[in-house]
Amino acid sequence: MTQSTAIQSQERGRILSKFADLIEQHTEELAALDALDAGRLFEWGKAVDIPSAAKTVRYYAGAADKIHGQVLKMSREFHAYTLLEPAGVVGHIIPWNFPTTVFVLKVSPSLAAGCTVVVKPAEQTPLSALFYAHLAKQAGIPDGVINVVTGFGPTAGAAISSHMDVDVVSFTGSTEVGRKIMQAAALSNLKPVSLELGGKSPLLIFNDADVDQAADQALLGGEVCAASSRVFVQEGIYDEFVEKLAEKAKTWVVGDPFDPKTRLGPQVDKKQYDKILSYIEDGKREGATLLTGGKPVGTKGYYIQPTIFTDVKEDMLIAKDEIFGPVMSLMKFKTIEEGIKCANNTQYGLAAGIITKNLDVANTVSRSIRAGVIWVNCYFAVDDDCPFGGYKMSGFGRDLGLDAIHKYLLVKSVATPLHNS
Ligand code: ADP
Repeated sequence: MTQSTAIQSQERGRILSKFADLIEQHTEELAALDALDAGRLFEWGKAVDIPSAAKTVRYYAGAADKIHGQVLKMSREFHAYTLLEPAGVVGHIIPWNFPTTVFVLKVSPSLAAGCTVVVKPAEQTPLSALFYAHLAKQAGIPDGVINVVTGFGPTAGAAISSHMDVDVVSFTGSTEVGRKIMQAAALSNLKPVSLELGGKSPLLIFNDADVDQAADQALLGGEVCAASSRVFVQEGIYDEFVEKLAEKAKTWVVGDPFDPKTRLGPQVDKKQYDKILSYIEDGKREGATLLTGGKPVGTKGYYIQPTIFTDVKEDMLIAKDEIFGPVMSLMKFKTIEEGIKCANNTQYGLAAGIITKNLDVANTVSRSIRAGVIWVNCYFAVDDDCPFGGYKMSGFGRDLGLDAIHKYLLVKSVATPLHNS
């Protein structure tokens, strides 16, 4: 039995709540670590990332003592029930874009389930994970329950996915690496995996939208796996929308993530910076029109202007590949059917946004888009109780929500005759 399973579930909840309190008490330090490491905006970290992380831990703290099986009906005179048992050692492999958010949304449900965890943060952004481990120890989480292993993907990451004593792997990152993790799991001990992978999420803006608000929602995406990197605008408001979006994008200050005026921080490293600039060149070469941005900012650091392309065709690289940077492709559509078809014309299916005042349109489109998360008249409304994860090549399995706990549990059926004669 692992150490954490020896702790009763109420006690687990109590310790997790203490962990949440400590996260709140160290909001500034944690936000600073993510700003230094990942270039996340310091003010945003203080106001959103870190308080939300504490909330997520508290959500699962409350769930820890409400995990139980069912009494079953057998077709014979038997008493039968299920036990939900901790899966054991869970490996979490996490990316650089949301070092705090992904750490807590992976670790908290697995601890609530009674598992122990081995977490590998991205090589670019290990600092906050190490600090979370330190806070976890202060909260009373026993030694050996949260293990943070820093290192590179092909070595430290691969060691987790191929390890015979790791019982489950939960991964967030690229589709390419997700495939390798699934393969390593299959070739080792057949551990179950859950994969939250890339996206090329569409945002559909219909003629009846408030153009000003729609432009704000479109800009909200940014550098996230669920970014609204393909924006489809219905033809009646297309020109007005393009004008408004360009106006707003130009006001965005790019720069130091510690400066409160900054709206867009640096890219995480040179590799990512070069990749984004190379996609921008692809966009220009393939004939898209650069509406705003397209260039690096300054000569020091990895800063890139918010970049918007118009006249994008669906088969261009910028419309197909996940870029993971401030690059948006604008396209025009006529009918609802065409909008749905465009939205679904991708190998990915992580998220989608719809902006309309027409309930019928919202309902039809929500049901027709093949994606795991749909935001109607909002964008990136991620919350603890809302399952998050993809369809198609955006992966499978869900983070967040109570169901996420079940990724880290095993179901055992127990049956016994009612009469021993
Ligand atoms: P991104 O494109 O967001 O950088 P990656 O998929 O490259 O995402 O990386 C996400 C995480 O996966 C990182 O922690 C990285 O170190 C890890 N990783 C990369 N390659 C492998 C691998 N072969 N096996 C396991 N983990 C890996």
